Amino acid sequence: MTHIAHWIGGAERAGTSGRVGPVYNPATGEQTAEVDLASTAEVGAAVAVAKAAARAWRSASLSKRSAILFKFRELLAERTGELAAIITAEHGKVLADAAGEVARGLENVEFATGIPHLMKGSFSEQAATGVDVYSIRQPLGVVAGITPFNFPAMVPLWMCATAIAAGNAFVLKPSEKDPSAALWLARLWAEAGLPDGVFNVVNGDKEAVDALLVHPDIAAVSFVGSTPIAKYIYETGTSHGKRVQALGGAKNHMIVLPDAELDAAADAAISAGYGAAGERCMAISVVVAVGDIADPLVEAIAARLPKIKIGNGADQDVDMGPLISAQHRDKVAGYIAAGASEGATVVADGRGLAGEAGFFLGATLLDNVTPSMTVYTDEIFGPVLSIVRVATYAEAVDLVNNNEYGNGTAIFTRDGGAARQFQFDVNAGMVGVNVPIPVPVAYYSFGGWKASLFGDSHMYGPDGIQFFTRGKVVTSRWPDPGTSAIDLGFPQTR
Ligand code: NAD
Repeated sequence: MTHIAHWIGGAERAGTSGRVGPVYNPATGEQTAEVDLASTAEVGAAVAVAKAAARAWRSASLSKRSAILFKFRELLAERTGELAAIITAEHGKVLADAAGEVARGLENVEFATGIPHLMKGSFSEQAATGVDVYSIRQPLGVVAGITPFNFPAMVPLWMCATAIAAGNAFVLKPSEKDPSAALWLARLWAEAGLPDGVFNVVNGDKEAVDALLVHPDIAAVSFVGSTPIAKYIYETGTSHGKRVQALGGAKNHMIVLPDAELDAAADAAISAGYGAAGERCMAISVVVAVGDIADPLVEAIAARLPKIKIGNGADQDVDMGPLISAQHRDKVAGYIAAGASEGATVVADGRGLAGEAGFFLGATLLDNVTPSMTVYTDEIFGPVLSIVRVATYAEAVDLVNNNEYGNGTAIFTRDGGAARQFQFDVNAGMVGVNVPIPVPVAYYSFGGWKASLFGDSHMYGPDGIQFFTRGKVVTSRWPDPGTSAIDLGFPQTR
């Protein structure tokens, strides 16, 4: 069995806490590895290493930092397949989806290569007679990332690319369910020339997280995970003086208006509802069918379900892999049972794969779901799509706006005016118009509203730069320069 250690100061470090956690291949149900779970003292040691590295790293020129990001980008692009295979083996998602996750993470690295431009401040000449005023942005020091199981490479890359480019040292606490991707990224950063100690991985559970949240040398915490933990991270981190952005769970609605293109809407509902077995924070969980499109839409979605090939994500022809754990599969299966007993119509029941060794659950479709049912109120995070039928656009928008979460949402229509009204009306952070999973490109920022995000800034893109830096304004007056020198060489930046 593989042993997964920490990565501190540019090298693997075996854990000393004596505590380990199991890592499974969800497609076979076998335990493939054990991962070290850090103690408070081990987290402290990692933060001390990061603190020492941060001092030198913030002095590295912008062009030096940018060059390392370009190198990291090239290596990541070359070896996407290697990382995708690691993700599939521990998470279960199909290889193409794992490669897609890496590709979206890569875009965040590409954005961060532009750090010389992104760190530019502003300058006001002659603010007073002989006085100039300018603003600069500086890194925070040591920052932490705490990430969920469902994107073991992309979410760490959302955070660390920007944080490191901005001149911080980064301590990552990945999900203990699929930690190998983080270690792989650590090796790649080292190969790209990142100085030791600037990127560190401490594996662990609540003990490691709590140690980061109260550590006086952690300046900021970037978190992605479920809503109860996001709230806890935000409250604990901010009460210890840290800057915190904590992204939580979701219940994403896709509204289908009567004039929508039926086949495109059905295809989108399938892709966004069952991709990654529904284990995406931007997955569509509820399709809101408006008016008389409901019957043909349910029929069109149901007709597509038998075509979804379920199996080991490592097999090229498989569309949907298993869930992350046996416990999670059973929890999701419990929601299907609850939906049925609360009066939903079970159009397709995914619980028929019980004989499989891995943590499989088939694609499930529930019709006539109402807002009081637990399948509607709770984030299920599995391959269960609910159909809620409403009569009007106004009812559909009210559903989204009254929901606890506000991560992503989408509208399917041919009516540009309705789509525009929707983006104006809806209380969610990310909106798709005939796009079911509107994850913003890397030069915008990602984040939800309401219980999907605690904190003020969204993740990556311009908000990421703001989050991982702080502003300073300098007011200066200079006497005439008394010294000068001639240098005919071409001006160097490094
Ligand atoms: P999770 O909240 O269980 O775990 C996330 C991280 O928090 C992990 O690193 C875990 O070790 C740590 N953690 C778990 N319990 C803790 C506790 N009691 N105290 C301190 N730390 C704790 O989430 P998950 O199951 O890994 O991921 C799935 C969840 O993440 C879903 O709710 C999903 O919607 C959400 N998610 C949200 C986004 C987003 O952008 N909003 C993106 C991806 C996933």
